[in-house]
Amino acid sequence: VNSGAVVHPGSERTRRLTTTLGEQEVDVLLVGTGVNLRYLTGFTGTHGLALIAAAGGGESGTAAHRFLTDFRYATQSAEQVPAEFEREIVAGSLLEAVPASLPAGGGRLGFDDASLTVGLHSQLQELLAGTWELVPCAGAVERLRAVKDAGELARIRAASELADEALQGVVEDGVVGRSERDVAIDLELRMRRLGAEAASFPSIVAAGAHGALPHAEPRAQEIPRDVLLTIDWGARLGGYCSDCTRTYATGAGIPAEASEVYELVLRAQEEVLAAVKVGPSGRELDGVARAVIELAGYGEHFGHGLGHGVGMEVHEGPRLSRTAGEEPLRAGNVVTIEPGVYLPGRLGVRIEDLVVVTEGAPEVLTSMSKALTVVS
Ligand code: ZN
Ligand code: ZN
Repeated sequence: VNSGAVVHPGSERTRRLTTTLGEQEVDVLLVGTGVNLRYLTGFTGTHGLALIAAAGGGESGTAAHRFLTDFRYATQSAEQVPAEFEREIVAGSLLEAVPASLPAGGGRLGFDDASLTVGLHSQLQELLAGTWELVPCAGAVERLRAVKDAGELARIRAASELADEALQGVVEDGVVGRSERDVAIDLELRMRRLGAEAASFPSIVAAGAHGALPHAEPRAQEIPRDVLLTIDWGARLGGYCSDCTRTYATGAGIPAEASEVYELVLRAQEEVLAAVKVGPSGRELDGVARAVIELAGYGEHFGHGLGHGVGMEVHEGPRLSRTAGEEPLRAGNVVTIEPGVYLPGRLGVRIEDLVVVTEGAPEVLTSMSKALTVVS
């Protein structure tokens, strides 16, 4: 019988997390305010803390997990946080309430050593007074977040479609003669009007030689005719980001070198797309793009990694780069494939698609054409 009950996505995520905590011999994991907390509990407020028990909640029927927040979020947390969490409304510091919320007898308490400050760490150590050992656990939640569930994929698809629609509108209205800044603002406004919560990062609009800076900031300068124009943008919708880059020509009169570099980057990008699937590592895929670009003599001008995971954050795991690990890509990873060639003082080309890794050919979420397109 379909009871019609909606399973909280955080329930399954917390269950997956407790399995990995057991492997790390951690009894309880402390998760502070931020994206990881939202991922596990659905809580969107700005002051909360979760204690995830490795023994798990549910099976024994007891609410072993705890969720701490303050009175401002009493109603909101009751609506958002799943039932496996015993909620506590704390007056004062959430950290100071941790010892009393932990099981008696002590154990190993995991914490995120990538985000907890040295100051808070020593405060926590003092509060625990030797009963609980603090164990660095950075990446435990991020590793789960790297593999998206169906609901997350639907949100990223929707964010990507929205972002494409916004850029389509900007390009149709014309960009030549407008300032880079004006185009960036227009793009961000369109995304907001189409329903985005925000741009997923400050948009990059960079014409001509400015495009040789991979993270160029849009300038007040006008976009001229007959140059390359790089636009890197994304929307955040339903808490999930998109990320995409297109490089356009602002006239048929661009230098021959610009078209050559464009075709080279496109070839590298498409060779990687043909290789993206469950199995190869981010390092191997980076190597596929790099080999194409190096063979053409532009290796030193591809100075960044091939791509990155995208989800609740615009940059998350897995990484695709020369320094990435050998861990194979997994089904449900959402990654960008964005090789680029940057010739200082002359031009830059980057082409970026957002894709879902599957057992077979990847699902490409970006719908914008990649043929070198002349915009006016
Ligand atoms: Zn991007
Ligand atoms: Zn990117």
